[in-house]
Amino acid sequence: MVLWIGVDDTDSLQGMCTTFLAAEIVRELTEDYDLIGFPRLVRLNPNVPWKTRGNGAICLRFGRGTGRRNLIGELESQPVWSFARAEGVDDPERVQSRIANLVERRSEFREPTTNPGFCILSKQPAATLYWKAVRRIVSKEEALAAVRSPGVLREYKNGRGIIGSLAAAAWRPHDRTYEVLCYRDESRWRTPRLLESGSVRYMDRTFTSTFNNYDYECNRIVIAPHSPCPILFGIRGDDPGVLPSAMRTIKGEPAAGWMVFETNQGTDDHVIPGQAVEPKTTVQVEREVSGRPRSIRGGHVVVELNDLEAAAYEPSKGFRTVVRALRPGDRVRVVGSIRDQPRTLNIEKLQVLSLSEESHKLANPLCFKCQKRAKSMGRKAGFRCARCGQRFPASSAITEHVSRPLEPGWYEPPVGSRRHLSKPLSRRPARSGRLGAA
Ligand SMILES: [Zn+2]
Repeated sequence: MVLWIGVDDTDSLQGMCTTFLAAEIVRELTEDYDLIGFPRLVRLNPNVPWKTRGNGAICLRFGRGTGRRNLIGELESQPVWSFARAEGVDDPERVQSRIANLVERRSEFREPTTNPGFCILSKQPAATLYWKAVRRIVSKEEALAAVRSPGVLREYKNGRGIIGSLAAAAWRPHDRTYEVLCYRDESRWRTPRLLESGSVRYMDRTFTSTFNNYDYECNRIVIAPHSPCPILFGIRGDDPGVLPSAMRTIKGEPAAGWMVFETNQGTDDHVIPGQAVEPKTTVQVEREVSGRPRSIRGGHVVVELNDLEAAAYEPSKGFRTVVRALRPGDRVRVVGSIRDQPRTLNIEKLQVLSLSEESHKLANPLCFKCQKRAKSMGRKAGFRCARCGQRFPASSAITEHVSRPLEPGWYEPPVGSRRHLSKPLSRRPARSGRLGAA
């Protein structure tokens, strides 16, 4: 039997982060328990209004390990071993005070938006809780209803953290990625991180199963956080086996330890399939472009998709060129989060399904009888010869086909402006599109 430990909402913009607390819990509990499987970093609905950061919760499993053990980290110069399975029975109550001590010591209680919570359960909560929490808004009552075994539920302040802690414990991966997190030495916390960007680019090119490492468009390291938290950097990838080697190629300040997490990052688990458009969710919808894109103040680009306005914001940089290249009649599939007021879809990625024929009028049709150009009778109304009165359909105008700089396929913003949960195109079998010069 395994103890399922979920923790959420301990961090703040100012410092601590839940993944650091994960390392502290592993160090504390591996003194008399075994870690089962990978520690889990579970991202939840990025559209919840009270979250300013990545909305990540953690789940850790402990028990009496059996079978093969794997090295998945190193903390305080001690190896961190993980076992595939557990045997025997453990009591959630027995570790309660040790988890509470760590949560209380390492949470930012002064932050008004930090509302920690944790759970220790002998059975995993119902899977439906995870799916609801990654896609929608979950009430505390709904979260508690997913608990299927007696155990410990502890909440602080407004208690919101209990929702994420249960949701993280409820995750049963169908798609998953991994992230190796490197921790900073405590003496360096709140000082600038020293990382050599050339080594990050080298790692990015060498370990092709990793992703979101370096933003070549903005010339920026993406593996390091910008907050003063105790994380030095994190490398994400599909193969947990190569992540420690990838980590060792990064040159910079010495790390105090590392641990590989199993995560739902880069899986698109947050995307609700179907055509419904609900606020505070992320959807994937197919639409026809109904107007020419326009640039608005702040460097954002918006485009009308009939009933929906879609936006590519300034931080998405070159991706806005793709959106600007759309024309009425193009068919697109867009993935993005829905903002309520005004109702806008914030584009996370976009697939051009088909391009409309764009043509450019060169001249009005010629009336052969009179050898004169006919006059236009208005948009789409056709033409008429001013001399003999003969009518010509709108399609008879002499046009030139305009070549488009866009081709069908998927497009996504640069690495630095992607969401944690967004599945990068490099993880998709579908081919991505190309934006060329027209
Ligand atoms: Zn005529």
